[in-house]
Amino acid sequence: MSTRAEQYVAEVLRREQLSPHLVRLTLGGPGLAGFTSTGIADEWVGLVVPGQFQSRYYTVRSWDGAALVIDVVVHDVGLVTEWAGGDCVGDQVTITEPRGSFAMPDDAAWLLLVGDITALPAMARIAETHGAAVPTRIWVETPDRPEEFDGYLPAHPGTTWLTLPHDGASRLAAMVETIEWPAGDGYFWMAGESAQMRAIRKFLMRDRKLPSTAYDVMGYWRSVAARQPRQVDPGPIWRAGKAAGKTDEQIWADYDQAREQVEQ
Ligand SMILES: Cc1cc2nc3c(=O)[nH]c(=O)nc-3n(C[C@H](O)[C@H](O)[C@H](O)COP(=O)(O)OP(=O)(O)OC[C@H]3O[C@@H](n4cnc5c(N)ncnc54)[C@H](O)[C@@H]3O)c2cc1C
Repeated sequence: MSTRAEQYVAEVLRREQLSPHLVRLTLGGPGLAGFTSTGIADEWVGLVVPGQFQSRYYTVRSWDGAALVIDVVVHDVGLVTEWAGGDCVGDQVTITEPRGSFAMPDDAAWLLLVGDITALPAMARIAETHGAAVPTRIWVETPDRPEEFDGYLPAHPGTTWLTLPHDGASRLAAMVETIEWPAGDGYFWMAGESAQMRAIRKFLMRDRKLPSTAYDVMGYWRSVAARQPRQVDPGPIWRAGKAAGKTDEQIWADYDQAREQVEQ
């Protein structure tokens, strides 16, 4: 079992408005001494801002040994979003040890990246790190115009910008079902609103029959509209799945199915 994770106190050195909904924060200061990147392209840290006790996760857009850059989506309501939307330069924040989950097999023939604006920082870093080595396609759903992000992603012919519908409800899951998949074995990475991600995990397992090593799909945030009052305890499902020799992905699918049943 891991012991208490390392924490770092950093200062907000700079704040830049990259687009109407994306704010870049550059963190630095002596408190970051010892911070070490995992080198995993979608790595994230827990961030605790003033007045907040529970961390939220943010992708390490870059770390050069002195400055740690995160790009924060400014949405309607939320501790971090409201803090980042104001003048936070000079504030102190706490950062947790980074972790990552991107694990493209060495022999992947292609890479597909799909995400909403919260996943854009990770997709940019993944494309910068791996996009030259393997044919890569990117789909980004954003409330902002694509022109706002000129230069944000590495120059790449395979980027499709999708407009977030006016009702604010992501359509990424439906979009993924229409993707024409490249031939051969590759790697699919996707992140965004949790309900969309659940739908896609199911699609990848049941329809595309991908092995769990061929994809990584992460819920980055949970929409209130999709939030359900009734909960399913994952513990018994996890234990039963493990006892039956199921993979983590199969157990996830069982969990999703149980949640769907209580949500009907
Ligand atoms: C591994 C990982 C990496 C992430 N990387 C990034 C990143 O680089 N940049 C980034 O901006 N986010 C990222 N996120 C998502 C971010 O952690 C969440 O959006 C977080 O909930 C925002 O915290 P908050 O305090 O602003 O809002 P919260 O207090 O968590 O939520 C308040 C309300 O806002 C809603 N909400 C939360 N996020 C959004 C959103 N994006 N759009 C619309 N409504 C929302 C919630 O449903 C809730 O009702 C990442 C998440 C994970 C798990």
